[in-house]
Amino acid sequence: MSFFGLFGKGRRETLESGLQKTRESVLGKLARAVAGKSTVDDDVLDGLEDALITSDVGVETTLEIIERIQARVRRDKYVGTNELRDILREEIVELLSEQAPQDLNANEETSGVPYVLMVVGVNGVGKTTTIGKLAYRLGREGKRVVIGAADTFRAAAQEQLEVWAERAGAVLVKGAAGADPASVAFEAVRVAKVQGADFVLVDTAGRLHNKVGLMQELTKIRNVMQKQLPTAPNEVMLVLDGGTGQNAFEQARQFSKATAVNSLCITKLDGTAKGGVVVGVSHMLSVPVRFIGLGEGIEDLQVFDRREFVESLFRRDGKMG
Ligand code: GDP
Ligand code: GDP
Ligand code: MG
Repeated sequence: MSFFGLFGKGRRETLESGLQKTRESVLGKLARAVAGKSTVDDDVLDGLEDALITSDVGVETTLEIIERIQARVRRDKYVGTNELRDILREEIVELLSEQAPQDLNANEETSGVPYVLMVVGVNGVGKTTTIGKLAYRLGREGKRVVIGAADTFRAAAQEQLEVWAERAGAVLVKGAAGADPASVAFEAVRVAKVQGADFVLVDTAGRLHNKVGLMQELTKIRNVMQKQLPTAPNEVMLVLDGGTGQNAFEQARQFSKATAVNSLCITKLDGTAKGGVVVGVSHMLSVPVRFIGLGEGIEDLQVFDRREFVESLFRRDGKMG
């Protein structure tokens, strides 16, 4: 079972409008970096470096992008500033492809066995919402989905999931308030096995990455699910709020240290100018971005396509020609 190919309609428009603020910011900075220049020289590269860093791409990733462009300038001798945008686009796509291969799971791998996705992250980043959106989309594709409400810490999370699960036609497995989250996850996997479900989506309580006990709890949830199903969890997805910029980098660093994170979901890209985090975080961790969140609505989740994303990021709107 794989997520790819499940999402299609209307995505381009949502992506374009969701990324509008980021795009305006990035293109504006880029325009300032090349103002009055016809070729890409050291000044332009300095300006570009600033533009990328202040667009939340991250220092490490920015330096690598600059190096690549420098190499290109050296090779091609003359690179016009009018080409810079296209070159940037190509180099960023290239960078994302090298660092974060997206073929996490082949279709065959888990056929006949539920694919278990565990969702982690700090409070309020959009874990529960993302699970709801995902369940809805999977349900629409005819997939059978079990949701494990393993955030037993916050009663509202369960109520939220009840609503989403109903809309999605998914089975919800929940525990009593304050129940051991691992027991809920265990039960969700058991139910999925019995019912022959295709996916298990496990919600977890928001936790601060610096709380050791809570991070250990994640390990416990993993281990307990494995008793039910040796392949579980197939994927641990870290959800990051794209609007938090540099904070998202820190969370990504800490979470991946404490637990095996093998995919990312970056939410709330709508309404923020900090969408550059998508490039930097994925590159920094060498972990692929699986999904992006572009709004609060049930349809506002997309499978991340790096080429489409980068193209949208650098697309000039009508006014800028
Ligand atoms: P959790 O604590 O990580 O489970 O976060 P929730 O799923 O409860 O979401 C917290 C808030 O973020 C809610 O108000 C959501 O509607 C909102 N949210 C989640 N994803 C997105 C998104 O992609 N865009 C926007 N604008 N809001 C989002
Ligand atoms: P603080 O108020 O910022 O110090 O944070 P808390 O100690 O209240 O915990 C941060 C977050 O971790 C909370 O909002 C909860 O979502 C989560 N949390 C706290 N304690 C527990 C717990 O015992 N189990 C689980 N699953 N989550 C917890
Ligand atoms: Mg939640």
